[in-house]
Amino acid sequence: MSFPIVRHRRLRQNAGIRSMVRETVLHPEDLVQPIFVTYGSGVKSEISSMPGVFHFSLDTLKDEVDEIVQLGIPAVLLFGIPETKDSIGTSGFADDGIVQEATRLIKSWYPDLLVIADTCLCEFTDHGHCGMVHTYERDGHVCGDVLNDESLELLVRTAVSQAKAGADIIAPSNMMDGFVQAIRSGLDDAGFQNVPIMSYSVKYASAFYGPFREAADSAPQFGDRKTYQMDPANVREALREAESDVLEGADMLMVKPAMAYLDVVRLLRDQFDLPIVAYNVSGEYSMIKAAAQQGWISEKAIVMELLTGMKRAGADIIITYFSKDAARWMR
Ligand SMILES: [Zn+2]
Repeated sequence: MSFPIVRHRRLRQNAGIRSMVRETVLHPEDLVQPIFVTYGSGVKSEISSMPGVFHFSLDTLKDEVDEIVQLGIPAVLLFGIPETKDSIGTSGFADDGIVQEATRLIKSWYPDLLVIADTCLCEFTDHGHCGMVHTYERDGHVCGDVLNDESLELLVRTAVSQAKAGADIIAPSNMMDGFVQAIRSGLDDAGFQNVPIMSYSVKYASAFYGPFREAADSAPQFGDRKTYQMDPANVREALREAESDVLEGADMLMVKPAMAYLDVVRLLRDQFDLPIVAYNVSGEYSMIKAAAQQGWISEKAIVMELLTGMKRAGADIIITYFSKDAARWMR
């Protein structure tokens, strides 16, 4: 008995057929461009470990936002670098904080451009942790414990002040226990029932965040974030984290980083019916930029392959520092 040869190549014969049967197509509307806003004036400074990514002060931000809008990217994710930091991150929830000011400005220029506010305190605390900490000395070292419940209160204030400034989506990134529920009820109480929460549900304690900590000036001054971020070796734990966020009222679930965790993106896609967000983080960006600068890889081809892979894995939304480049290449 003989079998016919299966002619897989029939569907690959020409570009028209290939494009007709393509299963995953990336669009500019899938992308979110992160923006770092800083205090001061006249600042547009490149982050050395992230070529092509800049710190902008409010007076230099317009051109960047214009470009994002012209490229058809529907959303930005705002991170702020404040002038002053203290132990509880006061500048994170001040009504005239840098993120709040930038949000108001962007919404005044482009009411339809979605502003996603990163809701955390590590950029605003002098110790670089994501909330309030109790510090003590042990064997001459400063140690600290993050105070979960006390931190929640500050995070709620931060989220509400961001929504008040006009943020369309609140993206809490701290992973304290109960943070989604606390922020949901805080937003509801303040009259922001319609502002969705994009939860950093599954955030791994990853070495890929290195360049971001330079960008956001948020490296912990002592200890690390392993007590509130996940062990890269775990995947069942990702389901538990995502499940509790869903029960607490999250509207979108994020996996961070993306490249080394596409199995987690797929798992969440299959288990939950909420939109899934993949965050293609700073270290993933920097590696590609560095290799491209050496001439070792084709940047455009690699980036498009990676972003398409993230979408194929199940991401509905991709946060990436390559958004502008990718949107340009898609034209
Ligand atoms: Zn944080």
